[in-house]
Order: sequence, then structure tokens, then C-alpha cells
Amino acid sequence: MSAGGIKPARPFQQAARVTLANPQMRRNLRHATTTIREKRLRAVAELPDWEALRDEGAALKDHVMAHLADALLDLEAAVQARGGRVHWARDAAEARGIVADIAAAHGAREVIKVKSISTDEIELNAALAERGIHAIETDLAELIVQLAEDRPSHILVPAIHRNRAEIRDLFRRKLGAELLTDEPKQLAEAARLYLREKFLTTRVAVSGANFAVAESGTVCVVESEGNGRMCVTMPGVLVSVMGIEKVLPTWQDMAVFLRLLPRSSTAERMNPYTSFWSGVTPGDGPQEFHLVLLDNGRTDVLADEVGRQTLRCIRCSACLNVCPVYERVGGHAYGSVYPGPIGAILTPQLLHLEDRNANTLPWASSLCGACYDACPVKINIPEVLLYLRGKITEEKPLSAEAIAFKTAAWVMSEPHRFEGAIKLARSGQGPLVKNGAIHALPGMLGGWTEARDLPAFPPQTFREWWRGRPAPQPRETDGQAQTSEGELLAPQRGDRGPA
Ligand code: SF4
Repeated sequence: MSAGGIKPARPFQQAARVTLANPQMRRNLRHATTTIREKRLRAVAELPDWEALRDEGAALKDHVMAHLADALLDLEAAVQARGGRVHWARDAAEARGIVADIAAAHGAREVIKVKSISTDEIELNAALAERGIHAIETDLAELIVQLAEDRPSHILVPAIHRNRAEIRDLFRRKLGAELLTDEPKQLAEAARLYLREKFLTTRVAVSGANFAVAESGTVCVVESEGNGRMCVTMPGVLVSVMGIEKVLPTWQDMAVFLRLLPRSSTAERMNPYTSFWSGVTPGDGPQEFHLVLLDNGRTDVLADEVGRQTLRCIRCSACLNVCPVYERVGGHAYGSVYPGPIGAILTPQLLHLEDRNANTLPWASSLCGACYDACPVKINIPEVLLYLRGKITEEKPLSAEAIAFKTAAWVMSEPHRFEGAIKLARSGQGPLVKNGAIHALPGMLGGWTEARDLPAFPPQTFREWWRGRPAPQPRETDGQAQTSEGELLAPQRGDRGPA
């Protein structure tokens, strides 16, 4: 794909305005997410033990996170025992360098790719291009995005924002398929013809990974088109880039995730292609295998008690498909290869909450909780969103917003200050009030009235009315004094007791 990475170029609120103004994209998104959402609900409803499976998936992932170092060392040992090589990459630059060096060492001018999200995270394609190596995406949707010099907008369906007519025109221009119609069969055939030749002639492949089993050193890619199977079996050299959180200790653990993932992502009972490979097998498949274990901020996420649940994610994209914000703004507004609710919590954390634009992402949510309900590994995304909002706000104490709220807290903590502020606001509001409301506050305060009106301050506050009301008259009831408003007064010393 032409562009990737996780650093948004601008704040979410700004980027969202651009995508909201694209009605074609919104139509495409609404149609696609509604379809996937309904299919997923049907697929999930078939399993009576779905909730128990979700609990098990969450518990297994938490167990892995608690013993991550051991699981990774076991994986390394098992991969090496089967003839593979393991590389540890602390950050994106290291990972890019490792992959580019391997490809260059084999004199590659082209590499084929599958399951690209981790390689998009590290912006691998651009790094390869700098070394004169062209990366070819082989997932159909990734290929569309790459040919269009676009960015992915969905984890599972990166070209979800494009419709068939747009793809037909693109293939006509870029693949020379001039007579193409927008029939899905024809579009797929055009891509197949282009890719088949690449599968047969390219010597180096780069893959991501859905899972890796530590006990046998086995890496797994789950996909729907067969391109993954071609990539991990046809070339002589295979390099897999995998986030460290993808490791599972045993095959028994894998069984749980192979039930959770397909129903949550493509709403299928099982994936059409699930490829496993363990190191190198002489005479069968790639004869050189490299596994790059990518940290790139993950150990910092792991160290955070609330944020670490983010690492349970199996990238199914169910949270995107149910999110009302994602459905309207689309993936590009998030500015990261990780869009939607998971992107809103993962991207800022991977960037250590130090990127100003990424720090706007936790506000890209209505906190409706639909993502939490849909997540197969029960990541409490709203909880993490609120937690990150708190951390981000605390860490910028000198922002205008923080100063305004601190001042408001100081004013409201003493009744006399609060009353003074109300009087001041009431006497100064005159020119701003129209029909009993303030429609536009001046200066920085204008943000408050951008989407709502502020009721005008009333001529008399409740406190003022209370102080000015007539004093209540006490009256006698069963030996107790009672005010005219029904308030009982306890008998006082010297009162006459009951007769
Ligand atoms: S957060 Fe949950 S629902 Fe969203 S992509 Fe990850 S696993 Fe799927």
C-alpha cells in the first residue's frame, strides 16, 4: 500500500470533517458495515457457547500477557529448532531494516506481501522502495488500495470505502484491463491474472501473522482468497513480521481463537484458508524462513494495568463494523493503519501518548459500548477510552481547556465565589442573549456553543429566590412545632410536653 504508519497527520476532529464531506464514501461504508454487521450477528447466534468462548479467549490472552516473555522465548527456541531464524525488533525502524536487508541480500527487486497490517504499521513498503525493492500487495483489497495510491480504511476490508465502479476504473487504468465491467467475477479475474504471474516469479515473500504457537514454533495466517497460501509456499524466502502479542503457548489455545476469529471478522464458521508453517521443511515450501518479532511500543502498553487489555486484540474488526462513529467518518479519519474503536485506543498507546494528533483519537467515540459487546476477546474499549482521556488531559495541565476547568472548579468550590461569578455573567450577557439563549459565546468559549445553545442566566437564581422568600410561620402539631411548609421542629427544653 502506498501509505501506512500509525502517526495521524492531523487531529481526528479535523480529519473527520474531510471524510464526512464525502457522500460516496459514506454510502459505501454504510452499506458495507450494515451487511457485515448483520452477517456476524447470525454467525455468532449459531453458537450456544459464544459468551463462554469470549470469556475463554479473554482469559487466554490475559494469561499470555502475564507470561509473555516466556512464551516468546519458547517460540524463538522452537522456530530455531525447525530451521527458522528469529529477529527481535524494538521499533519500526529496526523491523524495516531487518526485512529490507533480507530482501536485498537475495537480490530481490520485488517482494509479494500478505496480511500486511503489521508491515503497514512499520511503513515497510516505503522503506523497501528506498532500497529499490517494489512491494506487491496480494490481498485483493490491499492491491486496490495500493494501485489507487490510497490508504486502507478498514482492518479486514481495507478498500471498504470504494465501490465496484471505482475499482473497475482503477483496474482499467492500472492493469490495462480495458474491457472490464464492474462484475465482481471479472474484477477478481483481472486481479488473479496479474497476481498469478507475481506468485510464480517472485523469490521473496513478506507476511504478517495472525497467531504463532510457541510449543511448536508454528506461524499462522488466516485469509479468504488463497493469496496467503501462495505467498507462504511459493517463494524461496519467507519473512513474517509479527507483533509480540500474537503468540499463543499451545495448540489448544489456538483452537479457541480459530472459532472466535472467523465468526467475528468475516462472519464465517471457518476461514477458507488457514495456513500453518513451522520453520523450514527441505524440499517443501520456502527454504529460508525469518520471523521478526515486533515490539514498537507494545511492552509499554503491556506495562499499563488498564491499557494492556488492548493487546488481547485479534484484529477481527468487529468493533469497527458496529461503531456509529466509524460508520460515519470511515477509516481515513483515524490517520493510522489501525482505525475504528481499536485504533482509538491502540494508536495513541503505541505512540506512548506523546503524539498530539494520536491523542485526539480517544475522543472519537460516543462511548455507546457497542464495540465492547461485539469484541470476541472482551476488550472493554469504553473503559480504556475514558482512561486514556483522563491520562491525556492530566498530562497537559497548561492547556487552555485545563486552565478553564481548574478555574471553574475553584469558583464553584465556594458559594460566595460562585454567586459572584453568576452575578458577573448575568450583568455581562446582555448583548449575547437572543430569544432567551446564547447562541454564540465569544473567543475560546465559542467551542461550547458550536453545537449547542447556552440558556441565558435567569434574572434570579434559586439561592436568591430562597433567601428572599417570606419566613415560614411555625404552627403546633401533636406537641411539635411545624412550619407552614410541613417541616417538623423538635421540642425544645421548656416546651410543654403532652398532657
Ligand atoms: S478490539 Fe476486539 S472487536 Fe476490535 S478488532 Fe480487536 S478483537 Fe476485534
